[in-house]
Amino acid sequence: MELMSSPIYFVSSTESPEFNQLNSSLTRSSLVGLDAEWKPVRTHQSTFPTVSLLQIACRLIPDETESVVFLLDLSTIPLHSIYDLLKQVFESPCILKLGFKFKQDLKYLSSTFVAQGCHLGFEKVEPYLDIASVYNALQNKQKGKELPKQSKSLAAICKDVLRISLSKELQCSDWSCRPLSEEQVQYAAADAHCLLKIFDVLRCKFCKEGNSRDGVAEIHPFNVKLGLKLIMEEPDTCNVIIKTKFCNAIEMVQATTTEFPQKITTPSDSDLGRLSLNHKAIDDTILRIIKRYGDKIVLKLFDRSPKGSKKKGKRQSSSYNKEKRSEDIDEWEGPPPWDMSLGGDGCPKFLCDVMIEGLAKHLRCVGIDAAVPYTKKPNTRDLIEQAEKEKRVLLTRDAKLLRHKYLIQNQIYLVKSLLKNDQLVEVIHTFQLDISEDKLMSRCAKCNGRFIQRPLSTEEALEVAKGFQVIPNCLFNKNVEFWQCKDCNQLYWEGTQYHNAVQKFIEVCKLS
Ligand SMILES: [Zn+2]
Repeated sequence: MELMSSPIYFVSSTESPEFNQLNSSLTRSSLVGLDAEWKPVRTHQSTFPTVSLLQIACRLIPDETESVVFLLDLSTIPLHSIYDLLKQVFESPCILKLGFKFKQDLKYLSSTFVAQGCHLGFEKVEPYLDIASVYNALQNKQKGKELPKQSKSLAAICKDVLRISLSKELQCSDWSCRPLSEEQVQYAAADAHCLLKIFDVLRCKFCKEGNSRDGVAEIHPFNVKLGLKLIMEEPDTCNVIIKTKFCNAIEMVQATTTEFPQKITTPSDSDLGRLSLNHKAIDDTILRIIKRYGDKIVLKLFDRSPKGSKKKGKRQSSSYNKEKRSEDIDEWEGPPPWDMSLGGDGCPKFLCDVMIEGLAKHLRCVGIDAAVPYTKKPNTRDLIEQAEKEKRVLLTRDAKLLRHKYLIQNQIYLVKSLLKNDQLVEVIHTFQLDISEDKLMSRCAKCNGRFIQRPLSTEEALEVAKGFQVIPNCLFNKNVEFWQCKDCNQLYWEGTQYHNAVQKFIEVCKLS
């Protein structure tokens, strides 16, 4: 199968035939693939990278197979002239946006637009479908059971689904340099276009599997255009529309009037560069897929325009150890240390690189989930894969790793302090971890495991410790309680060492 058989348009100005082509294609698309490229960030550069290319692959209707790819040169197009158009595409309920971990791209894109004075950047992309999550869902369904979520790369999904090797060589090439090489153009276009191709395969599977379970599938046995008449007659159709948030009356009318799109405008449509994108019928299968798997990306204000708000927010909350920390805070304006939506129970989990295994032990001692790499000498890919798989924030002292930070959704943080205690304080402060005395020593410092709920008596502890751990004789008649790690069986007790350690962490973490 050939991947790039579709025309590619390089759009470098709004006064160009290519831009007109983009406008007319967007009005004919209910499915687009999105991707963005930026110049790789220097290791210690702390602001968001500037996005220099936005790829939009459009699937044109009515022909289900025809598609076209646009490469928007964000380094030459004045961004305010395309801001409204893009915002409308991102938020149109009639265009399903496909992406691969597009949230990161959207953050960078948003901050690039904000830097050129475009209001507050981009707030959301909806409806959105992440190719990785659909791939996972369908893979799991095939095997008939819920498997742990895999996090494959786009190239791996491409290979698996399309039997095509997507070259990743150019991923880190300089995307800000012009003109782009022919290879770069092909690579950039393929990255967005393959999203459509993968979606096609998944859509096929979805149709074959006859997803009648959700009760929507049976409503439209044919490819429906959501006519007003039908909406009136068919209550279920109405229901679908409401469920998929087609609530805006004007959009509903626009969705139903394929014949006269230009005649229906909202007041805001008179803005320059705004298009009426909502006038086409959305494919029934796409509607069902949105219903089942549809998602949205919502950026917090801070993610949209990191520079100003970050500094301010950080300053306000840094009442603690102000003089010493304020330098670091000024220095660090990078991506937010941790995306709340990625952590499980409201507290980030960490993966400490080999150079800072001591920090991992310290974090465990204050009750924070901190893992170490599977092997003693992990390569970059192992680290990133483990962090992704276990949804951990990667902590490292290796600045070179930051080059890969766009690959990792859970993010990488470069630990600046040299000493373990300082590193602990730095991480607690940066990630605003809530440390309290009752969390101290609540994890196995050796392996990061949790403890067996019930304390063990001396007799039980002696039994468990046989041939494994020496329990000092002096404890025998003191009625000491023991805790055992569920994972590695290590025993802990409230001896002198324990009390010293608790005291130390109370001081280090300034717990009162
Ligand atoms: Zn353990």
